[in-house]
Amino acid sequence: MDEQGRCGQCRSLISQGVDRCPDCGYEPASQGRIIGRIVGLLAVFTLCVTTGALGYLSLLSLQQGTVGQAGPLVAALLGLWIGAAVALVAIFRGRTRTPTNDVV
Ligand SMILES: [Zn+2]
Repeated sequence: MDEQGRCGQCRSLISQGVDRCPDCGYEPASQGRIIGRIVGLLAVFTLCVTTGALGYLSLLSLQQGTVGQAGPLVAALLGLWIGAAVALVAIFRGRTRTPTNDVV
């Protein structure tokens, strides 16, 4: 049932579904795991802050009619929001790395 592939480090034949090579212990996903968590937390934090700030700014704009002044700030926050979303997608993709993915 499991497809087999070569380990990216020791080249032994292992199951493609495993996160870690049973022969040499090679675990490519673990290298990005800690960084991924930090970036993930930052991305979630950025998403929350920018979403809250955008909501607050739009309320202010509605009340005071200062849409023109808030425009650049809203654009910057939107940029942050998109960046955070892209970071989350990159992390999600990085999690699927297995030892056999490294073999070209
Ligand atoms: Zn190996």
